[in-house]
Amino acid sequence: MSADATHPPQVLVVGAGPAGLVAGIALARHGIGVLLVEKRAAISTLSRALVISTRSMEILRAWGLEAAVRAGAANVEPCGWVTPTLASGEGVEIALGFPTAAQAAAVSPTRPAWAAQDHLEPLLLGLLRHYPSAQVRFDAELIGLEQDDDGVTAAVRDRPSAGTQSVRAEFVIGADGAHSAVRELLGIRLEGPDNLAEFHAVQFHAPLTELLGPRRYGLYVITHPDAACVIGRRGPGDRWGCAREWRPGQDRLVDADEHRIAQLIRTAVGVPDLHPRIERTSAFSFAAQLADHYRAGRGFVVGDAAHRMTPRGGTGMNTAIHDAYDLGWKLAWVLRGWAAPALLASYEAERRPVGRHNVERSGDPAGARRTAEEALPHDLHGRVAHHWLRPGDGAVSTLDLLGDGLTLLTADDEAGWAAAAARLDTRAPIVVHAVGAPIATAAGAAPNGAVLLRPDGKLAASWTEPTVPPTADLTGLTPSMRAGS
Ligand SMILES: Cc1cc2nc3c(=O)[nH]c(=O)nc-3n(C[C@H](O)[C@H](O)[C@H](O)COP(=O)(O)OP(=O)(O)OC[C@H]3O[C@@H](n4cnc5c(N)ncnc54)[C@H](O)[C@@H]3O)c2cc1C
Repeated sequence: MSADATHPPQVLVVGAGPAGLVAGIALARHGIGVLLVEKRAAISTLSRALVISTRSMEILRAWGLEAAVRAGAANVEPCGWVTPTLASGEGVEIALGFPTAAQAAAVSPTRPAWAAQDHLEPLLLGLLRHYPSAQVRFDAELIGLEQDDDGVTAAVRDRPSAGTQSVRAEFVIGADGAHSAVRELLGIRLEGPDNLAEFHAVQFHAPLTELLGPRRYGLYVITHPDAACVIGRRGPGDRWGCAREWRPGQDRLVDADEHRIAQLIRTAVGVPDLHPRIERTSAFSFAAQLADHYRAGRGFVVGDAAHRMTPRGGTGMNTAIHDAYDLGWKLAWVLRGWAAPALLASYEAERRPVGRHNVERSGDPAGARRTAEEALPHDLHGRVAHHWLRPGDGAVSTLDLLGDGLTLLTADDEAGWAAAAARLDTRAPIVVHAVGAPIATAAGAAPNGAVLLRPDGKLAASWTEPTVPPTADLTGLTPSMRAGS
């Protein structure tokens, strides 16, 4: 169903940040009618988040966006370097919780990308617009929301004309950021500290790549007493950012003139005759807050609307992407009649603990520093283990076998497996792949058994042999007649 004037949308998505765009794509891939409204005239040009995590890249890879993302990514390890100045040549490497290319190769068909949010967002928008069932409306601000047993009714203001339109949909997703109107209108509250710190950031251009030579990191923590700050790469060229905490009594970077900002950058870089070109300044406050609920009836919150994280750990945008992907496929399944509405309860049950973990990490002053081993389980979050089926060119990962429906991985292609899968009470399509005993076992199957996987790679059921009923958690994966209860 399309989301045009003649067909009301099935899902109204509010906000065209990473969360809203990903939710829209996850729904539209299933042909669900989506209307995405965004109050800005266009997507944001602020670079903001700098690193796309392993799991986020797996989702983007499955959607065919990996090459386009890498084209705008810096060729660096997603680690940091602590140094007095960029020119000093002395320093210590620190882990930021993201795997290096070598570490990622052991667990994933892809790896993190050091790419700025304003490179990723246009790619997501382009993909969303490609789906005929999706409609995107800019300059459109949600200002009111009500719900009843059958759906939601939103008041959406057209900002140029100031006219208000009523939009009816079966569900609404609040992807409208930290100050979410949808969250407020649904009566969902944030818990946790606000205004933990005030940070000021500058985006600038300067020829630092040559200066750094082989010290190719994503972030540089500058310890110079007159210019303590964090300098980060914002793309493949010489686009950079410098961020520092503002403390009462200090200069406010956002209010400083270009001469003063350039002086700070020169000191941090350690090159007195450097002439940085200043692109823009911005300020943001640190908060570590979590919504008390992720759902109220037919309304959901995702991304920053559900949790506010400081940039420590680089989890804000990535958690937003994962929330939106999770809710997107679950809502699509319910709307297609593939699953019961009970599946929707698993969105909050599965995603809020991750939100809590990442909020707490971001609130810890030492939260940026984690080893990849510590941080990866929270990023990959229980998806099936990656193994190459055919190494080399044209390689296929176990993750590539996952489709929009259910996937049964078996050790062998004994006919009994298709019959075992067919006995499950589900309307979702099931595709059977015989991958051999080692890979099936690594995916969690008993010796010569089989596992049934959801589209996100999580385990739904596990068999020891085709004729023995499986151990299953099929909550909501069985269909019912009506969505939304
Ligand atoms: C200055 C800054 C620096 C950051 N740095 C980092 C970083 O280094 N690492 C990191 O991981 N994260 C960082 N973040 C956080 C990261 O940008 C967010 O976590 C991420 O954008 C969350 O995505 P989202 O889609 O949930 O929300 P957003 O990106 O905030 O998108 C929400 C969208 O909803 C729209 N909207 C709001 N209200 C309405 C309404 N009523 N109607 C219609 N549209 C509406 C907004 O205009 C916006 O486009 C930073 C954020 C800021 C502000």
